[in-house]
Amino acid sequence: MKVYFLGTGTSQGIPVIGSHHSVCLSDDFKDKRLRVSVWIHWEDYSYVIDCGPDFRQQMLASKCQSIDGILFTHEHADHTAGLDDIRPFNFRKGALPIFAQDRVVESLKKRFDYIFETENRYPGAPSVIVNEIENNKPFLIGNKMAEPISVWHGSLQVFGFRIEDFAYLTDVKTIDEPEIDKLKGVKVLVINALREEPHATHFNLQEALDFIDLIQPERAYLTHISHLLGFHAEVEKKLPKNVFLAYDNLEITI
Ligand SMILES: [Zn+2]
Repeated sequence: MKVYFLGTGTSQGIPVIGSHHSVCLSDDFKDKRLRVSVWIHWEDYSYVIDCGPDFRQQMLASKCQSIDGILFTHEHADHTAGLDDIRPFNFRKGALPIFAQDRVVESLKKRFDYIFETENRYPGAPSVIVNEIENNKPFLIGNKMAEPISVWHGSLQVFGFRIEDFAYLTDVKTIDEPEIDKLKGVKVLVINALREEPHATHFNLQEALDFIDLIQPERAYLTHISHLLGFHAEVEKKLPKNVFLAYDNLEITI
C-alpha cells in the first residue's frame, strides 16, 4: 500500500496569505504545505482521506487518475471545502462514495446543499453516495477494512483511520483509552503536530512525540503543520530517528 501526502499544512496552509514570517518566505519546497490530506492506493484501489480547499491542485500534482471514495475525518473547511471538485471523477465513473459520521454528513448537506439536492438537480452537480461511519464499526474500502479511531479535537469528535499496519490521525488533542488500544501494533503512524506552543484543539510537537512514544510504531510522520513549527530541515534534525516531518508530495510504502 502506498500513502501519498497530498497536503501537510494546518488550516491556512503555508505560506499564509500576506505573511512575512521566515517560514512562509522559505524557498525550500518542503516548507510549502497545502491543506492536510492523504491519498492511499494499492492494487486497483484508490481512496483519499479528507478533501480540503486544495483538492483540485493536489489531484493534479499527484497525477491521481481515479478515486474509489473519500473518507472524512470531520467537517472543518480545511478538510471538506474541495468537495465540488470531485466532478471529473463523477463524469468518468458516476457518483463517488463518501464515508463520514452522521454529524459530518449533516454539515456537508448545509455546506454543499446542491450536491444533496434530489429535485431539480443541476445536471453537472457533483454526486456522492453516503456511507455512514459509526463508532467501533470497521468498514470495507476496496478489499481492506478501515477501522475508525475516535479522537477529540477539543470537544469535537473526529475520526482517524487504521488500515492494517497504517494509521492516520489528524486534528487530535485527546484520545480515550479504548481507542488507544485499537492502535496497538501499528507499524506506520501519521499524527498531527501543529507547533511547539500548546494549542487548545491540536497536539503540539511534544504531545505528538509523547503519543508516538505510547503507540511505539516503527515509523511516525507528523502532519497538519503550522508555519510556527519552524523550517522543515531544522525541525527534522531535532526529531527521534523513527519520526519524520511529512511534506507535500511525499509518498511512503507500507
Ligand atoms: Zn484541520
